[in-house]
Order: sequence, then C-alpha cells, then structure tokens
Amino acid sequence: MPTEGLSIEQPDSQHSVDQDEEVGLLSVTRQINNARIKRRHAWIMFGIVFGTLLVVSLILISRIDQHLACRKSSLAVLCRSGSSVQRQTPLNFLVVGDWGRNGLYNQSLVAEQMGNVGGQLNVSFIISTGDNFYENGLTGPDDEQFSTSFSNIYTQKSLQTTWYSVLGNHDYHGNVSAQVDQKVTFRDPRWNCHNNFQLIHDLGNTPQAKVEFFFIDTNPFVEEYWTTKSSYAWQLPIPRRDYIMEELMNLTNALAASTAKWKIVVGHHTMRSVSTHGDTLELLEAVLPILEANAVDLYINGHDHCMQHIKRPDSPVHFLTSGGGSKAWRGTKPLINAEEDFGLRFYYDGQGFAAVTMLPTEVCIDLYNISGQVMYSMNLQKN
Ligand SMILES: [Zn+2]
Repeated sequence: MPTEGLSIEQPDSQHSVDQDEEVGLLSVTRQINNARIKRRHAWIMFGIVFGTLLVVSLILISRIDQHLACRKSSLAVLCRSGSSVQRQTPLNFLVVGDWGRNGLYNQSLVAEQMGNVGGQLNVSFIISTGDNFYENGLTGPDDEQFSTSFSNIYTQKSLQTTWYSVLGNHDYHGNVSAQVDQKVTFRDPRWNCHNNFQLIHDLGNTPQAKVEFFFIDTNPFVEEYWTTKSSYAWQLPIPRRDYIMEELMNLTNALAASTAKWKIVVGHHTMRSVSTHGDTLELLEAVLPILEANAVDLYINGHDHCMQHIKRPDSPVHFLTSGGGSKAWRGTKPLINAEEDFGLRFYYDGQGFAAVTMLPTEVCIDLYNISGQVMYSMNLQKN
C-alpha cells in the first residue's frame, strides 16, 4: 500500500510538483513578459520624449538660424520671409510712419482709425516706415516706451498682426540695436524690425503673381548725419562706406533675382518729396538708379510728416510718403515752381496712413486722414 500509496500518490505528487513548476514557470514567464512590456513601454516613452525634444530642438535651431540670418542682414544678407500659401483673395496691409509719441500728437487717434480700416480690410500685416520712437529711439530692449508708444497704442484686434518696420533717423538717436533685438520681439511678438530684409507674398495662382518687398536702411546714406555733431548712435559693424556698398550690392542682387510681378522698396527717407525735407539727394544718386533698372513699381517712405504721392515723368517709380503717424501740421507748403514738373499727384500736410490692396494685376492705395476718410486713391495696373 505504501508502495501503492506511493505509486498512487507519486503521480499526484509529481503532478503537483509539475504543476508547481508550471505555475512557477508561468509566473517567471509572466514576470519576464511584464518586464519586457515595461521595458518596451519605457523605450516607447523614451522614443516619444526623445523625438519630441529632437523636433523642438530642430525648430528652435531653425528659428535661431533665421534670427541670426536676419541679424546678419545688417552686415550682408537680406533675409527672406513671408507666406508661401497661394492666395485667392487680395492682399491687404496698412502703412504708417513717424508715430511713436506715447499716444500724443493724435497718435492714438490715427491708431484708432487704423484699427477700424484694418478690420474692414482684414489686413495681413502693417508696414512702419521708421522713426518708430521719438525723440531718441529706445534706450534698450527693456525701454518702457516700447509699451507706451507701441504695444499700448495699437491695441485693436485688426492690428494684432506682424509689423514690418524699418529704422528712421530718430531711431538712430537712441540704442538702435534695441529695435532689432529679439528681446523686443519677445515683449510683443508683432514687432519685426531689421536693418535690411525681404518679404514675399503670393497674390495668385501663377508663379509670377507675387509681390516682393525690399526693406532697406537709408540712414547711413545721409551725409549730414556723419558731418554734424548730432548724437547718432552709429553701431555699424563695418565702416560706413563698406556698409553702404554692401547694402547696394545686396539690394541690386536681390532685385535682379526677383521674379515677382510687383516690386516695392521701403525705406525711411524720402527720395522725392515736396515737403519739409524734400528730396534726399544721396538716395537719388545711389539707390534710385537701382530701382529704375530693376523695374521697381513703388518706393514707400516716411520722414516727412505728411501723406503724398509723386510720379514724375522722368522715372517709372511711384513715390509714396506715409509719415503721418503722429505729429504733423508743420504748415509746409509744397515747393513747386511752374517750370518743372515735380509730378505731385497728392499732398496732405497732416496725420494719416495708407491702406494698400494688392491683386495679381492691380494695386489700389487709399490715403486716410484722422477721421477715417479716404482723402486720395491711386491705382496701378499691370497685365
Ligand atoms: Zn525721419
């Protein structure tokens, strides 16, 4: 019996041992599988985190590269940005200049009308033609005037878009590098200011249906800023002559390479003006021939605190002054004599701004006054 018992019990006992072993093996297998699953999950999580970090790093590096390219633009390279989306609707934008006075001298009223018109047109961006902060630019990227003259003034919804800005002579009175410093853009992401840069926008479905903007720094050209004892904070990275030569070469190359149907150059100083400052001879000599040789349609500027349109018979370029962002009404009367055709189409010695509508074959520009009324309209067409 014991034997039988054993013989009877042995299989059960063996079975029990086998079962225990199986259970043990299953348990070990389960633990191994669990460990594998945990490891796999850990690897997946690591992959997700690493991938995310990699993508974020690449985006940051590309932005830093873009920023550095823009910063380098004061040296050599014109940086390029803009929409690559083909448009089915007109491109609308506003142009204002000579504005930053803490809301005074009707700056706030001009801003209000800009907001109204910008809302009606659903503008894509704003162009500032310089003299952004009076009287002496910004003291640094933390200057409170950036808020009191810009962020706290242009508050309407339609103006919460990119402001492409050039530098004026009053900006150079202060710490001019503050306005192209990324720290200012961190304070208000709308702000986009460089010494020299390009912007391209599609206007339609054909490759040529584009408008290309060339923003240039006109300050170094003006001789009197270098010969008088005025407090210009020149912070050019290379000697003035080299800077100017490089800027002219870059502008020439960029314009020549452009296949855009419409070419618009934006700078602070006048080329042609019948107002206080009049023509800027240095720009007529050095820059205008480049514009004419490369079929530039329009030169937009500020500097004179007025709104004016000039189209002379001796040049294909239209000259538009939009410098009525705040202090105006200087009582300047156009200096015109009967013997020469100055090509003056419109002149207004007061505050205002321009609203531009662009289509593939047409540009419409309305000049608004402080009451939000259209004072003057111009229309350019091209097949
Ligand atoms: Zn100026």
